[in-house]
Amino acid sequence: MKRLLNQLSKVLEGNISINEEDLEYYSTDGGVFELEPTAIVFPKDVNDVENLVKTVDEFHELGNDRISLTARGNGTDQGGGPINTGIIVDFMKHMDHILEIGDDYVVVQPGCLYGRMQKELKKRGRYIPSYPASIEIATIGGAVANNAAGEKTVKYGATRDYVEAIQVVLSDGTVTWLHNASPSQVEEKKSKDTLEGNIYRQIEKIVDENQETINNHPNVTKESSGYALWKVRNGNNLNLAQVIVGSQGTLCFVTAIRLKTIPMPDPDKVELIVSYYESLDKAGSSAQELHSLEPSALEIVDKNLIELVNSQKPELLKGLLPDGPTPAVVLLCEFDNQDNEERKNKLHQASEIINKYAYESALKNTPEEEAEAWKLRRSAAAVMWTIPGKKKALPIIEDGTVPPHKLTEFIKRAYQIFEKYDLEIAIWGHAGDADLHMQPFMDLSKTSDRKKLFAMTDEFYKMVHELGGTAAGEHNDSLMRAVYRPIMFGPELEKLFDQVKAVFDPENMFNPHKKVGVDFNYIKKHLRHSYSIESIAKLERQKAQDTIDR
Ligand SMILES: Cc1cc2nc3c(=O)[nH]c(=O)nc-3n(C[C@H](O)[C@H](O)[C@H](O)COP(=O)(O)OP(=O)(O)OC[C@H]3O[C@@H](n4cnc5c(N)ncnc54)[C@H](O)[C@@H]3O)c2cc1C
Repeated sequence: MKRLLNQLSKVLEGNISINEEDLEYYSTDGGVFELEPTAIVFPKDVNDVENLVKTVDEFHELGNDRISLTARGNGTDQGGGPINTGIIVDFMKHMDHILEIGDDYVVVQPGCLYGRMQKELKKRGRYIPSYPASIEIATIGGAVANNAAGEKTVKYGATRDYVEAIQVVLSDGTVTWLHNASPSQVEEKKSKDTLEGNIYRQIEKIVDENQETINNHPNVTKESSGYALWKVRNGNNLNLAQVIVGSQGTLCFVTAIRLKTIPMPDPDKVELIVSYYESLDKAGSSAQELHSLEPSALEIVDKNLIELVNSQKPELLKGLLPDGPTPAVVLLCEFDNQDNEERKNKLHQASEIINKYAYESALKNTPEEEAEAWKLRRSAAAVMWTIPGKKKALPIIEDGTVPPHKLTEFIKRAYQIFEKYDLEIAIWGHAGDADLHMQPFMDLSKTSDRKKLFAMTDEFYKMVHELGGTAAGEHNDSLMRAVYRPIMFGPELEKLFDQVKAVFDPENMFNPHKKVGVDFNYIKKHLRHSYSIESIAKLERQKAQDTIDR
């Protein structure tokens, strides 16, 4: 290793760290696992990334021990995606530039904070609507590698819907752009006797010969699990960028991204209805009908979350709830249709639905009123973070997603599991996509809780599968969900995922044991003994708070 680091220090412009404090810091992310790296590299530019990969590749060719390369944005992943042994490559320190902003696109380096890029776009009246709640603390590279999504996804889709092209460094050090390639472009690539040529030949073959298997994946409206082979064939074109989106740095490094932008809605033409329900059944029926009106957000918080927030920060929700008992469920339904008549019509239909099921509702139609009402939903995680004591709200089942019409059953069955395991829990999330964030309170220093954890996750993910769902709507597979994904995708499709990994990364250099090639023994061995959100990626407290309270 020392020899490799010596070689790297000669060819790289960016620095390398083996400082104990750095190694400790980079050994965790926003999830419950821990893996200590050997070194951290901070590449200056794409040439550095190319030289890094080529040097490590040559080092392996000479018969030396294998050293893996794992990309990291800001480490806010909640499942262990950016942690590993080997070398961690931090893209945030230097490769954080916005390279170009066009009328309807932006070209950006992966280490740029999403929020910083969005701010620049907004100055021009544009934005990318698939932003995650962690927008202020996550990088755009992390969002692309995870296929991140958020509250607007119900109408506008996920990150992958905005990616037009990705510059990558392949496992032999080739730098190339992947995009929606025409048949003649594909033929030209395929004719090359190179790794890139082989990738085009093999991925096209995998996709074209296995259409039925590929299309047999969970029928959900939001998905960041697996390798998205179902998105690669685009008519006669072949879009390899779509396999890279959501691949969690397991196939290549991403060194630049071109994303489509769309006009920002006029904030005065955005309206929000907050509705309160006495039962989950009524809220579920309401959410299902509201979904058909194509709202720009349809979010849910449950009674437990409201009571938790009230017990910790009673002032936060003051004036936001009706008098009387805590509602079983609150739904927030937003419409951003810029045509006034169309929006009013949608609001009218939404009110009719809400009046059938809710016991009270309120229309918010100024940006100030809306921001206030959104606190109900956005204050959730912030409060979760601040609960004192050893029991922490753990991100272990926080992204299960089922077909939207199964929302009520999903919540009911989840609560049955939590009761069985005697777990305190609260639920919030994206009702429109039936993607729910549930974080049970557990103490990882207790053996009993560690045992309970896997017994409970076994039952939870089995239940999600029975409902036709997926393990990860937006937070991706990383470690925890990679072991449960095969239940949902089946052996045939899993075999294709293994082939994709082998085609791009034959020597398993990039982020090993993530997405593919991971088992229970491995993840159990790397479960942390204490969990704290404090250790997330250089999160300045205020920034983190702003993210959630935004
Ligand atoms: C409070 C909180 C709220 C969150 N809310 C949401 C949400 O609403 N929606 C959502 O989708 N997620 C959410 N997340 C999860 C996470 O923030 C997002 O997935 C985010 O996009 C990750 O970005 P990051 O920069 O932190 O990436 P990291 O955590 O550093 O990395 C994530 C993955 O991307 C890979 N990667 C990073 N950079 C590159 C690169 N240059 N090349 C190749 N691979 C790369 C890493 O190897 C890793 O596998 C939340 C997390 C927290 C803590």
